[in-house]
Amino acid sequence: MSRESMEYDVVIVGAGPAGLSAACRLKQLNANYSVCVIEKGSAVGAHILSGAVFEPTALNELIPDWKSMSAPVTTGVTDDQILLLTSDSKHIKVPGLFAPKTMKNHGNYIISLGKFCSWLGAQAEALGVDIFPGFAASEILFDQDGKVTGIATGDMGLSRTGDKKDTFMQGMELHAKYTLFAEGCRGHLGKQLIDKYNLDEGKDPQHYGIGIKELWKVPSEQHKPGLVVHSAGWPLNETNTLGGGFLYHLEDNQVAVGLITNLSYSNPHLSPYDEFQRYKHHPSIKQHLEGGERLTYGARAITKGGLQSQPKMSFPGGLLIGDDAGTLNFAKIKGSHTAMKSGMVAAESVAKALANNQANSDIVEFAHAYQKSWAFKELHRQRNFGPAQHKFGYLLGSAYAFIDINIFNGCLPWTLKDTVADHLTMKTVDECDVINYPKYDGVLSFDKPSSVFLSNTNHEEDQPCHLQLSDPDLPILHNLTAYNEAAQRYCPAGVYEVVEDSDGSSKFQINAQNCVHCKTCDIKEPSQNINWVTPEGSGGPNYPNM
Ligand SMILES: Cc1cc2nc3c(=O)[nH]c(=O)nc-3n(C[C@H](O)[C@H](O)[C@H](O)COP(=O)(O)OP(=O)(O)OC[C@H]3O[C@@H](n4cnc5c(N)ncnc54)[C@H](O)[C@@H]3O)c2cc1C
Repeated sequence: MSRESMEYDVVIVGAGPAGLSAACRLKQLNANYSVCVIEKGSAVGAHILSGAVFEPTALNELIPDWKSMSAPVTTGVTDDQILLLTSDSKHIKVPGLFAPKTMKNHGNYIISLGKFCSWLGAQAEALGVDIFPGFAASEILFDQDGKVTGIATGDMGLSRTGDKKDTFMQGMELHAKYTLFAEGCRGHLGKQLIDKYNLDEGKDPQHYGIGIKELWKVPSEQHKPGLVVHSAGWPLNETNTLGGGFLYHLEDNQVAVGLITNLSYSNPHLSPYDEFQRYKHHPSIKQHLEGGERLTYGARAITKGGLQSQPKMSFPGGLLIGDDAGTLNFAKIKGSHTAMKSGMVAAESVAKALANNQANSDIVEFAHAYQKSWAFKELHRQRNFGPAQHKFGYLLGSAYAFIDINIFNGCLPWTLKDTVADHLTMKTVDECDVINYPKYDGVLSFDKPSSVFLSNTNHEEDQPCHLQLSDPDLPILHNLTAYNEAAQRYCPAGVYEVVEDSDGSSKFQINAQNCVHCKTCDIKEPSQNINWVTPEGSGGPNYPNM
């Protein structure tokens, strides 16, 4: 039976900052364009997890009078602190003079990016965009010449074994003159497009971190709205792992706390989840949370390769935008403003193509327009930050970045490369020390099940597993001895377990219903054996405010 279909001028996959900004800009340019946005979360914002310190540059351009339109962008940054955690109890406050200028946040806001996307989604709808939350784009549609012609949503109501249940609903085709892919970091369809069109030819591999975050409600007397704290050093320095922590005081007595662990880490015993749990016990972090209550938990991978890792963003029939293409500026740990700008520039390029009656072409002009934008220029100036840290380690790398960015304003005439993909950096267990993590105290630190509970994650249990193994035997036959199956630790949601089977042998178990869609497994599995595909639409976390 052929699938039902709908026709649009432009179909956009993903209602994050990139996708929604592209949708708004298209309708601003021509109200007659038919534009739809498809979102796998149950609502716009439900799958969004960010810090977030928000730079309003792109928003000022997209919706100049946002301040009078109840945008949830209200807590201006009042104080910026950078801490170097030198041990589990000591820290040094980095004087402002030595802080990289990319980490200065005067004029920025502390927001919930999920709440912001929900607001931006409402602005897009008011402009006439159709938004379909609860539907995952699971397949790219191509014509006979290999041009992208749209996407198909996944079938709903299939059983674990792929049989149709009573609730079966066939997926639908959304046909478009142009399709914009804005799935965020490690997009499942973006990955296929990069592969099919060799979009990453000649580029460094993309690099990633895993960000684990909690939202707390703290006593009023402890709350300092507008305070931004970034930290480096402990606990990740104990394993020579790069990354850093963040702690932001939002409105309503809320504090966002998180730790980003670079996925270039090498010790298979490392657990980003446990690193984060102990991070909160550092006295300089603990003082903000004490007496408070944990409200929400979540995790999401973050792209950090920068310009050197950015694939070609156009291909026949569409564009990759936002973090699907890696537009994040890791020197600032900010990607919302650059994702928005890439979406806006994409919309302008698509509008020109539509005005010229083109359809499903490769909009090569987009690359020029993007290169002229401030987003590209910003990424170009700060291109050496990430590679310098990988090459020289945190302290020397930061010193290098300070000189490059603060003194030479990113104009040094060379570009550092970072050519080893994150999944290739894992060592075997016999090459590394075991890490003994402290027990959770149930006050500041908590176990995974209670954390996943707070992410409101829910999947229909009887559906095909959305975490596909290329070789189902590899976890036990190889990964268990080589890495003590590191998936058990790099997954922040307890999806992967090695359990004892009825005959006493070891069995690799995938608890797919726990998955918070962070994509870490798809990135870090050393043999690239795990392929993350979209589960039934609306499955996954239901973040209220992340
Ligand atoms: C821990 C952490 C802290 C961060 N801190 C900051 C910060 O302080 N400031 C800042 O500016 N940036 C920060 N960022 C980065 C910022 O969140 C991203 O750069 C930004 O969200 C990228 O926007 P995007 O639209 O490209 O993708 P996303 O925001 O990831 O949005 C993608 C959307 O697409 C949907 N989607 C994906 N695949 C499909 C599919 N196949 N079908 C349908 N829908 C799909 C997703 O559910 C999601 O809603 C942080 C990121 C992390 C992880």
